Amino acid sequence: MYRSLSPLSNRGAGTVEHGGRTFINLSSNDYLGLAGNSALIEEFYTARTEANTMDRFAPGTASSRLLTGDLQLSHELESLIAGLYGRESALLFNSGYHANIGILPSLLTKHDLILSDKLNHASIHDGLQICRAEFKRFRHGDYRHLETLLQTHRDDHRLVAIVSESVFSMDGDCADLETLVELKQRYKCLLYLDEAHSIGVYGTKGLGLAELRGCIDEIDLLVGTFGKACGSVGAFLVSDEIIRAYLINRSRPLIFTTALPPVVLNWNHFVMSRLASMQARRDKLTQTSRELRKKLENAGLQTGGSTNIIPVIIGAADQTVEGAKMLQNNGFYVLPVRPPTVPKGTSRFRLSLTADHDIEMLAPLPGLIRNWLDGK
Ligand code: PMP
Repeated sequence: MYRSLSPLSNRGAGTVEHGGRTFINLSSNDYLGLAGNSALIEEFYTARTEANTMDRFAPGTASSRLLTGDLQLSHELESLIAGLYGRESALLFNSGYHANIGILPSLLTKHDLILSDKLNHASIHDGLQICRAEFKRFRHGDYRHLETLLQTHRDDHRLVAIVSESVFSMDGDCADLETLVELKQRYKCLLYLDEAHSIGVYGTKGLGLAELRGCIDEIDLLVGTFGKACGSVGAFLVSDEIIRAYLINRSRPLIFTTALPPVVLNWNHFVMSRLASMQARRDKLTQTSRELRKKLENAGLQTGGSTNIIPVIIGAADQTVEGAKMLQNNGFYVLPVRPPTVPKGTSRFRLSLTADHDIEMLAPLPGLIRNWLDGK
């Protein structure tokens, strides 16, 4: 269970170098293939001039946003995002982790309750731990359980927030947004949705699962991150303006940290304004993921979910570590996912596909895993 770091170099289109070897990288969140897209990165930097370097390409702000780190560019990016989502406002955070520990703990008090899907990301869970509101977790995707909790506890609390990811990061399955919206309306709750793994991947504008399902307006607190399909770092909240104003005054992970640097804000603006034009990448990703999932299932392997994140459940942690080594020896950079990231007994390979992958390069995977399991 010991964890260690492993330096990589030369990240390319769906590939990565490690120890002098090139691997097909199945462990990144670069879903649209932008983080490793040298042509796009070159295009981004061709806009640099001596006059705009400080405002748009500098590496740091040397201050929190509430001091001198609040840049025009931050506001331009927030306006762009609010406009794309058709909502009143957007507010930047330095990462999804900051957002998930910085929003609900600032908004909710001891009179309130949070109902959170059991498989929500660790950052959401950490936010629950520091929040003064009470919290309860419902079984993953089990909205009957959620409703039972609402029936029992709704009336005892002032505000109740329902919290879910839209695409679950370790299982590759999706929340049922229609049901979550219906419950939040019926029981008069706030709905908090973490779209980290779906921004860029779903919707004709690439805004995520809420766009695809046509319910953006029903998501009171919609969190997106730039660290996955957008290929950089940072996060945003889409909400009503009053919530934005309140968080600027109360959210400690926003107030007490150095603001995102111009070069990151500029890249995030560059990518967000192009997301709609990346439908071909989305389509390719969906198609390749569908084909690989089918091939894995045909090989009798236990997969799950329906997205470009494909878990292959192995079970025991030590066996999963051994299997990941075997895949690495065969040129696939797959890492074992073990407890506490996933529940005990469900250690797995998390095959994370990007638009750079095609089915031909992934075709050996099902056979490799099958033969290795059969040889045990
Ligand atoms: N939410 C989810 C669902 C995530 O999977 C992650 C990171 N893996 C985060 C939030 C944290 O985002 P960031 O990496 O920007 O801190």
